[in-house]
Amino acid sequence: MNHFAAIRAQLDRYGIDAMLLTNEANRFYASGFRSIGTDGVAFVTKKRAYYWTDSRYIEAAGRQVADAELALATVERGYAALINEAAARDGVETVGFEDEYMTVAELERYRSRLHVALKPATELLTGLRMVKDGAEIAALTDAQRIAERALAEIYNDVRVGVTEKEIAAKLTYLMLRYGAENVSFDPIVASGANGSKPHAVPSDKPIAAGEFVTMDFGCICRGYCSDMTRTVAVGYVTEEMERVYHTVLRAQLAGIAAARAGVPSCDVHNAAAKVIADAGYGAYFGHGFGHGVGVEIHESPRASTTWKDPLPAGAVISAEPGIYLPGRFGVRIEDVVVIREGGCENLHRAPKELLILP
Ligand code: ZN
Ligand code: ZN
Repeated sequence: MNHFAAIRAQLDRYGIDAMLLTNEANRFYASGFRSIGTDGVAFVTKKRAYYWTDSRYIEAAGRQVADAELALATVERGYAALINEAAARDGVETVGFEDEYMTVAELERYRSRLHVALKPATELLTGLRMVKDGAEIAALTDAQRIAERALAEIYNDVRVGVTEKEIAAKLTYLMLRYGAENVSFDPIVASGANGSKPHAVPSDKPIAAGEFVTMDFGCICRGYCSDMTRTVAVGYVTEEMERVYHTVLRAQLAGIAAARAGVPSCDVHNAAAKVIADAGYGAYFGHGFGHGVGVEIHESPRASTTWKDPLPAGAVISAEPGIYLPGRFGVRIEDVVVIREGGCENLHRAPKELLILP
């Protein structure tokens, strides 16, 4: 899978003759090949695409990059020289670059060496990546299936005395075991009072009876991320724990019901936030309803109070409201949905009813 043609089709709109891709995620999106950090450059002109990398990656790139001219970057003929050669060959005068990612030092180096004008154009990639095609949604779905398989099995381990770190390690193992390329982020496992911190780091704390355990995790399949959260109880729940759980679930369903193409994403957030506020927990839901998921675990668009843009069809966002009671407990439930005309499609199949493990 590559997106060279899609990028090329946007060049005129951004007033550029070519796009320079140095960011790892954008380079992967463009070429379908992943080299780490700054170890590669993709360059898309109106005539053709180029992919350059060094001797550590060139063999793998040769097998995986299609529809682009491949060349080896060396000390003598580095990326700037390769860009200048390609620009001269294809009549390129203005080159878009990723202003949101390129460091000031890199930009100055390129400015001093390139014979072209550089123009900020991160948005070209942000806009394209926001709308997923069929192959991308298939990869996101497969990543989700792997995470759900790990979830179904981890329930055997979630019991009194097992530590948060042990659960996190096992989740990681299971996802890799079932075919994931990697985790999409370090799993969050938070039990009892730790659950009130939305991004708690798994600790050596053992799970105790009467606690919630929140597990937020995901994996990567064909370069695309999954992301899910389930909160389960161990032993028993208090009346308040049950009330909070069902409030979060109702909020999530309200947000999902509001999510469709053309709706400002803040409205989706607000639909969920209203359920939580009406239940009296408005002060305990501090983050946004959701974020885009794709090549990166957090990307555009966001569903939060500040995003007024309408959701495009094909956007993929998480649906993850939560209630966090400091020093006591927290609940978050997270699915990922594809925005469609008139509604959205939930990529998740894992049940969400309150589960009380023995
Ligand atoms: Zn998550
Ligand atoms: Zn998320």
